[in-house]
Amino acid sequence: MEKIKMSTPLVEMDGDEMTRVLWKEIKEKLILPFVDLKTVYYDLGLLNRNATKDQVTVDAALATKKYGVAVKCATITPNKQRMEEYPELTEMWKSPNATIRSILGGTVFRTPILSDRIHPVVNCWKKPITIARHAYGDIYKAVEIVSNVPGTCKLVFEGADGSTQEAIVQITDGPAVFQGQHNLNQSIRDFARSCFRYALDTSQDLWFSTKDTISKQYDGKFKEIFEEEFQAFSSDFENKGIHYFYTLIDDAVARVIRSEGGFVWACKNYDGDVMSDMVSTAFGSLAMMTSVLVSADGKYEYEAAHGTVTRHYYRYLKGEKTSTNPVATIFAWSGALRKRGELDGLQDLCAFADKLEVQTLELINNGTMTGDLARMADDSGHVEAVTTDLFLDKLASSL
Ligand code: NAP
Ligand code: MG
Repeated sequence: MEKIKMSTPLVEMDGDEMTRVLWKEIKEKLILPFVDLKTVYYDLGLLNRNATKDQVTVDAALATKKYGVAVKCATITPNKQRMEEYPELTEMWKSPNATIRSILGGTVFRTPILSDRIHPVVNCWKKPITIARHAYGDIYKAVEIVSNVPGTCKLVFEGADGSTQEAIVQITDGPAVFQGQHNLNQSIRDFARSCFRYALDTSQDLWFSTKDTISKQYDGKFKEIFEEEFQAFSSDFENKGIHYFYTLIDDAVARVIRSEGGFVWACKNYDGDVMSDMVSTAFGSLAMMTSVLVSADGKYEYEAAHGTVTRHYYRYLKGEKTSTNPVATIFAWSGALRKRGELDGLQDLCAFADKLEVQTLELINNGTMTGDLARMADDSGHVEAVTTDLFLDKLASSL
């Protein structure tokens, strides 16, 4: 069989622990036999990040800017415990995802992968709900003050042009707490653009919610910028038969629960943090959730939403065969290959990506799945919990 050709390489970011093991197996068993794979490879494994003083993460993000599409394996974000586990670490390196996001900007879209055998907790959900979380500002960059005496708290802005604006936050008669938040028009604009672009790419409606009845100026600015940015997309939306829909966050929550899914829900930073955990849990499993970072200028970085599955890795190191779910990592690869195919006009590559996803789901729907899913699957038919190796072998032979 002749292998499927690629023209532009994918940016490949390798990672850590169990997902690094999965990464190699997925490539060897599912991709390399069928695709004449072209990648520019960056090893974001913790030890190489340490050896390069984290330059490799920056280089990988810059390569994504250059080539346009990346696929990333889960990586360890070091904490105190990891510093003890890896004594060679010279620094507590920052989260690679945060570094990549700060270079590319844009928005993280998280989408559950649905299977016929795993039923969402919310009965009426039939299609995936994608959460688009703004990843800048608000309480995540807030400053806070705690006072123990009565007094006056003011918000003061000193313009670079010498102008000033001042507002009294509150005159208090006892101990109190205060918080100052901000966001940037440009960041909100990039957020809006990447949401409209993603909705178009995936032919789904876009919902956006804030609390602008209460926060008339701050949340009002988000609503206003989304409306402004939508002007450039409205005719494309019309042509695709999709809609942009703004509503209050509390109304959105009620509508989401009653919906059948199949749309993108854009959320401010905090709302997205909370709602993505709610939506992913209600759909079933973190191991069945994909994540893609889309920059405002249309660069894509695909990954699984879960981490490096450390507990399984320690068992793997003892020689045990684990039943770690590779589905979200497979879908990160298929997502990246499909996007590369779309951008380069390679229909065979797109068709291969589709096939890889269809066969993965068919295997699960027919009852072959990893342990995490077998525990949740319905009893409408045969269910067999298999090791990762066996799952990948069966999938490979079905391709
Ligand atoms: P995790 O790796 O997502 O795993 C948490 C637990 O969820 C696992 O122990 C496992 O439960 C279950 N699980 C997650 N993915 C699974 C899969 N594919 N198949 C089967 N079960 C799965 O989260 P964590 O333990 O909090 O974090 C581990 C490391 O990952 C940390 O060093 C963290 O920094 C890193 N991390 C990286 C990213 C990223 O790169 N995007 C994201 C999150 C975390 P059982 O053990 O009960 O089977
Ligand atoms: Mg959270």
